[in-house]
This record gives sequence, structure tokens and C-alpha cells, in this order.
Amino acid sequence: MKIAVLSREPRNYSTRRLVEVARARGHEVEVLDTLRCYMNIASHNPSIHYEGVELGDYDAVIPRIGASITFYGTAVLRQFEMMSTMALNSSVAISRSRDKLRAMQLLSRHGIGLPITGYAHSTHDVPDLIKMVGGAPLVVKLLEGTQGIGVVLCETHKAAESVIEAFIQTNNNILVQEYIREANGADIRCLVVNGKVVAAMRRQAQPGEFRSNLHRGGTAEAIKITPEERATAVQAAKIMGLDVAGVDILRSARGPLVLEVNSSPGLQGVEAASGKDVAGKIIEFLELKASRKHKPAE
Ligand code: ADP
Repeated sequence: MKIAVLSREPRNYSTRRLVEVARARGHEVEVLDTLRCYMNIASHNPSIHYEGVELGDYDAVIPRIGASITFYGTAVLRQFEMMSTMALNSSVAISRSRDKLRAMQLLSRHGIGLPITGYAHSTHDVPDLIKMVGGAPLVVKLLEGTQGIGVVLCETHKAAESVIEAFIQTNNNILVQEYIREANGADIRCLVVNGKVVAAMRRQAQPGEFRSNLHRGGTAEAIKITPEERATAVQAAKIMGLDVAGVDILRSARGPLVLEVNSSPGLQGVEAASGKDVAGKIIEFLELKASRKHKPAE
């Protein structure tokens, strides 16, 4: 196959692994900087240009679109889709999962366990918003945040009120969320490929920190997940419409709670912790998806 990887970071571990594995399996692979792709969206003959030339046809595209460029990145991916290039994850599914509110509303509608979460636009009813999620301690999250940035634990009602008001008044979109104390600063990342959890890791926050992000100094180790956690991860990816996803789960007293479904999960931490060849599973799946697409209609 001829494969395009949409990535701004060709040297990034995940990009390198996917390229390496795909080449080793005999595919032709090019890494394209998502933001350097440009296109004529009104043409009857959709095309994409790159560094002054029109791109040829690709059989498949692997989107690795960072959260900060979701809008443009999904537009580029959509253009590939219009050119009948098969995408590892579709542009619609990526947009769906990147909109944290929309994603949580969808997951909740399908009965997936979630931390109690509130969302408000105005500062008028902050005390009731706090009450709604069960009072302090609670977690306030910037909607656009990633890697734990903008995730704040407010221990008291007063602190929660000040933080929420400050965020809203500075025009930040935030979520207010029940704090899952019994998670003990740990969460579970499940890598789902084609409806199966192919690898999982437990991330543990540093002492004194509740955010387990590896970028925040968290450590990762292999973990055996429960059948309930496995089913939750698989179902969450399915609801988002993502064939490849990283599903973050908190272990709570009332069972697994989904924090986020990530459409471009990093591979470094999870491959190291689990010892699994996740990139290999992803490329194998891409081959399968392409073969299904080319199967003549019955
Ligand atoms: P980001 O998308 O920026 O990583 P998350 O919502 O995943 O933000 O939060 C970062 C980390 O903070 C999580 O991995 C988890 O360890 C911790 N965390 C987030 N929300 C809660 C919560 N409601 N209760 C307990 N811990 C939480």
C-alpha cells in the first residue's frame, strides 16, 4: 500500500514506529506535515497540494493530529476521504472525540460510567454547579487542555468557587468534575484497535500529585485489566466511532469511569510498559481495513 502519515512530528516516537513497521511490512510510507497540506475545497476533482505539487493517490492515511490543530487537521483528513483514501480513524470520529463535552454526552447516553461532570457558561450559579457534582473536593478542567495542563484539584468549596469564577470570567471553557479520590492518583490507559484492547498500562502520579500524565512525571507499568474495564474501553471507542483509540479510565468505587477517548494515542509509554507491539497491531489493522474496502460488493 501507499500510506500517508499526517504528522507534524516525523521524529516523534509514535510516528517513527508506525513508519518503521509499515515499511518493514512492505508498504510505501510518506510523512506529511498536516499544516503544510493545502487544498481546493470547491473543486469537483478533490486534490491536496504539498510543497508546490499535487499529491498523488494514497491507499491509506494515518492521522496523527495534535489537539491544537484539530480544526485544520480534520479538514485535511476529510479531503483525503473525499479522494477515497481510507483513513485509519475517520475525520468525523476524530472531531467527535476531540469535543470533550460532545464526547461525554454521547458516552453518557450509551450508559458508559463517567465522573459526575458539570458544565456552565455563566458565573451566576456557581454554588449550585458545585453542589451538582457533589461539592468539594472537585476537579476543574479547561476544555482545551491536554497533558494534564489546566486540570486543577480544588480541595474546598471556597477554592472551587474562586477557580471556577476566574476561569469563566477569563473566557475559558471548563468542566467541573467530581474528584475520584479512590483512584489514588492512578489511571488506566487502554489501547483499543479494531474493537479489542491490544495493550494497557497503569499510570501513577508522583507523590503529592493527582494527575497521572507521563508529561507530569507520572510513571507507567503493565496492568491486567478486568473484563469490565476491557468492555468499557472497547465500547467507548465504538461509541466514538474510533477504530484506534486510547481510552483513559479511572478505577472508582462504582466501577470503571471513562475520562477521555483519545484518537491519536501516544505509543511510547504503552509499548514500553506493556511490552506489546502496538504499532504492529495498528498497521495489521490498516491492512485489514484496506482489504475490506477493496473487496468487491456481493
Ligand atoms: P488531560 O486530557 O489533560 O490529560 P485528564 O482529564 O485526562 O486531562 O486529567 C489528567 C489526569 O488527572 C488524569 O490522567 C487523572 O490521573 C487525573 N484526573 C482527571 N480527572 C480526575 C477526576 N475527576 N478524579 C481524579 N483524578 C482525575
